[in-house]
Amino acid sequence: MFTVRCDCGAEAEQDVGQAVRDGRLCWDSEFHCRACGAAACLGFDAGDAPPWVRGPLIAEHGTVRLRLADPDTGRIPILKTLLETWDLSLTQAMLLSEQLAGDGLPGTLPEAEWLREQLAARRVRTEIVPGAATDDADFPWATGC
Ligand SMILES: [Zn+2]
Repeated sequence: MFTVRCDCGAEAEQDVGQAVRDGRLCWDSEFHCRACGAAACLGFDAGDAPPWVRGPLIAEHGTVRLRLADPDTGRIPILKTLLETWDLSLTQAMLLSEQLAGDGLPGTLPEAEWLREQLAARRVRTEIVPGAATDDADFPWATGC
């Protein structure tokens, strides 16, 4: 949640959220002004969250990293999952799989939980570990596909 300026001049609250629903990664945002009572749904959708939703979420909650429970897990099911999930080149998918096998792929907690489910469907076991303040968590989550 963060504060925005309402049309009435008062400070209003804007909620942003991300969650896994029915196996899909979803986001939403709502606006509510205590002063004048204005309330609005600013948007919701499935898929990658837009930057104005992800930015505040990461600012408030930070990032996590998703990594392989066993770094020696075969790469083929991982690459298949990544290529089905995003519009990636094979090179990009291989880089991501190396991140998953190494320190972990940074993202928001709901994003990591969602990708964890996708990988689990191919029997790839992963774990979610704390992220770092320096994580650049935009790719591949905010590629706009
Ligand atoms: Zn207002």
